[in-house]
Amino acid sequence: MTRLDAKAQNKKKGLSVNADAETTYPPTGALAPHPEGKDHEVLLRGVLVYGEGEPTDVLVRDGLIAEIGTNLNTDGETIDLEGQVLLPGLVDMHVHMREPGREDTETIATGSAAAAQGGFTAVFTMANTAPVTDNPSIAETVWFKGQNTNLCDVHPVGSISRGLEGKELTEFGMMADSDAKVRMFSDDGKCVDDPRLMRRAIEYAKGMDVLLAQHCEEPRLTEGAVAHEGDNAARLGLRGWPRVAEESIVARDAIMTRDYGGRLHICHASTEGTVELLRWAKAQDIPLTAEVTPHHLILTDERLETYDGVNRVNPPLRESRDVAALRQALIDGVVDCVATDHAPHGSEEKCCEFDKARPGMLGLETSLALIAQIFVLDGDQDWRFVARVLSESPAAITKLPGHGRPIAVGEPANLCVVDTNAQWVAHGEDMASKSRNTPYEGMDMPVKISTTLLRGKVTCRNGKAVTSSTSENNA
Ligand SMILES: [Zn+2]
Repeated sequence: MTRLDAKAQNKKKGLSVNADAETTYPPTGALAPHPEGKDHEVLLRGVLVYGEGEPTDVLVRDGLIAEIGTNLNTDGETIDLEGQVLLPGLVDMHVHMREPGREDTETIATGSAAAAQGGFTAVFTMANTAPVTDNPSIAETVWFKGQNTNLCDVHPVGSISRGLEGKELTEFGMMADSDAKVRMFSDDGKCVDDPRLMRRAIEYAKGMDVLLAQHCEEPRLTEGAVAHEGDNAARLGLRGWPRVAEESIVARDAIMTRDYGGRLHICHASTEGTVELLRWAKAQDIPLTAEVTPHHLILTDERLETYDGVNRVNPPLRESRDVAALRQALIDGVVDCVATDHAPHGSEEKCCEFDKARPGMLGLETSLALIAQIFVLDGDQDWRFVARVLSESPAAITKLPGHGRPIAVGEPANLCVVDTNAQWVAHGEDMASKSRNTPYEGMDMPVKISTTLLRGKVTCRNGKAVTSSTSENNA
């Protein structure tokens, strides 16, 4: 079905699905037609919707949820999922796909496969590529490659400053008007530390209703820093990255957003003080949102003992009181969502002296399992919470149509299924990502994504991404 047919049909059915897709984001799906063609059906048999109630069947037809009920039938594919948990497809606001420039560590194809295996149906890939994503042609290249791979929607993030140099603003308008329809801008990896430039970016972004995402790090306080400034760094002889380097920028940007904003998003919140500032900003109704990574919710700087470069990340792993504050903030909604900051690196960039290791960790394939472990299995949250922090909130912050939607008839079939009886052990070697820098090597993972659907197309089956080389054998 063409996009226009789908639109007309939705209109006929009175559906508002993707209603604002054409004004806010590219018309997903039209560029990569459904491989099985029209009237393709997939029956998800025996799932627990949001982990609740009795097992039920969900019939997907032409990319939409067509029926939810018991004893449904199809001439198409049936996937037996007895008792597994059905969630909306996950959305990650913060990944690094490394294409263009470092295709030896990750490509849009391998990153999309990692995303599908992690349950993701949409990701935003940061602008610190080589060359930098600071113009429409690179943004369009990234977008089209994602659509051609067709495992996950890959939305390019445009840089705020030209070449990430922090001097001159990029043309937000040209990137927003391109086929990639860029709606989020960030210099992530670097902070827009110049307050005059940040003020102009905030004012410019407000006029265009695009989202800015700030990597909060006052660079004059982190020169040469490789680890959280605290007892462990001091004992291990590592240069410290103090909390104030993050918190001073969060505070400054919260106030700038209050006075000049616009919507501003805080990347990878990592400290107890940042949580307090976010709590204050939200109490003043400042339109500030924030994400936290799985690694800042589970790991601390005690990991640095071995000097293993895999534990180097920016912002650094902090202390248990930061972890506790971030967990509570996510539960309270003070921190809005989880984002992985999936950052692939080659082994030569990680297996070296700690202070020479490149900062960053893989995240796409382990995120759901870790969040489930912390908040559902070891905590008192339910699967609705997981849907909120890993799908609904990031889709809302990015105003992403079609993702993070309720599981209901007529909604787009962007879905993932969690097998709560499939324990596994994380090994970099087994991952779909091209890199191996997981900090969870050898760690037991309590649940696994068995199935992912992107607009009704199965992108992950039996826990494996359905790449073009596997689809013919399995479909
Ligand atoms: Zn960052």
